[in-house]
Amino acid sequence: MAGRGERPGGLSQGAPVIPYGRHSVDESDIAAVSAVLRGDWLTTGPVVDEFERALSGHAGGVPCVSVTSGTTALHVAYAAAGIGPGDEVVVTPMTFVATAAAAAMLGARVVFADVEQDTANLDPAAAEAAITTRTKVVTAIDYAGHPADWDAFRKITEGRDILLLDDAAHALGSRYRGRPIGSAADLTTFSFFPTKNVTTAEGGAVAVADLALLPRVRMLRNHGLVRDPLHMRWPDEGGWHQEVHAFSLNYRLPDLLCALGVSQLRRLESFKAERARLAARYAAMLDQVEGIRLPVHRQDVEVMAHLYPIRVLDGRRKEIYQSMRRSGIGVQVNYVPVYWHPVFSDQGYRRGLCPNAERFYAEELSLPLYPGLTDQQQGQVVDGLVAALKGRA
Ligand SMILES: *Cc1c(COP(=O)(O)O)cnc(C)c1O
Repeated sequence: MAGRGERPGGLSQGAPVIPYGRHSVDESDIAAVSAVLRGDWLTTGPVVDEFERALSGHAGGVPCVSVTSGTTALHVAYAAAGIGPGDEVVVTPMTFVATAAAAAMLGARVVFADVEQDTANLDPAAAEAAITTRTKVVTAIDYAGHPADWDAFRKITEGRDILLLDDAAHALGSRYRGRPIGSAADLTTFSFFPTKNVTTAEGGAVAVADLALLPRVRMLRNHGLVRDPLHMRWPDEGGWHQEVHAFSLNYRLPDLLCALGVSQLRRLESFKAERARLAARYAAMLDQVEGIRLPVHRQDVEVMAHLYPIRVLDGRRKEIYQSMRRSGIGVQVNYVPVYWHPVFSDQGYRRGLCPNAERFYAEELSLPLYPGLTDQQQGQVVDGLVAALKGRA
């Protein structure tokens, strides 16, 4: 079964009994979606606005534009930033491939800069060293929900013509120095895939803190269409007239899915509390276990615990992964350094480029973490890990 938030093809030996991530859908979510099915608008209706307003309320009041996925949110964000051939984008390698692929698809050159050893977030010093006169965007993610050091990035890009992009697929609900994620960078993208912090099945959004970019983000979400006569080249053509000002695609998130989003956002705080409770339980139960390291949590951030990424020491990550998977525990590895993907390595990106990211990848193992994971299941995960580390699973 490829459901339960697992990406198709991600399973080597059948579906795990305890998945690494999973959506939580309750009767209130079902009622919200059913109400839209009975109404007049399946797509491009009033619930889209309602969802965007509600999302903005969780993103520091920054205007949000919904789209069909976290990936298309990145594509729209990079396109709004105006990147193309000849431009460079500095990107973290410790992320899902879409963070970099969306920029590459627009013809920009992706420049990978290394991550911090503790958080696995893009290292501001490494990002600064990677900047050239051609750099147009610096993109970090908030890995596992732990915010990147946004003030440090701001210092680096200040006074230069460089936009800050936050791929916050993990971090809706997190805060950086008191500020909600969504308001830390110039553009922030969210994903609502089932394993993320809230879901619309498939879905995403761009939070647009740089208000000058907002009309462009809205236009690119919808074929590059301009409908406001104030912005048309030929406003007197007639009432039917609309103009395409840029090539784009249809990235509209339907009302049906936005209704699920509105309902899920009402549950965001309870999801956050439950994820925090489970993360604290892991920390307490694993504190004395040898052969692993637990994730860090810096003072000045509030973490929406999206993943629970432990480090498996002594070169044993693969062995522990296989052992736990055999026991039906859906551990996961987040992520293979992006430039290892053949689509990048075929272009000459070499292994060794970002040593911290590669070392982190070699040790990383994400334990199951989602609202709905029971204490008993969590106990099974811990027992499975301890048994695997003792070599008797
Ligand atoms: C999930 C994810 C994406 C892609 O989002 P989709 O909604 O699956 O397209 C991009 N970046 C990161 C860091 C993610 O975790």
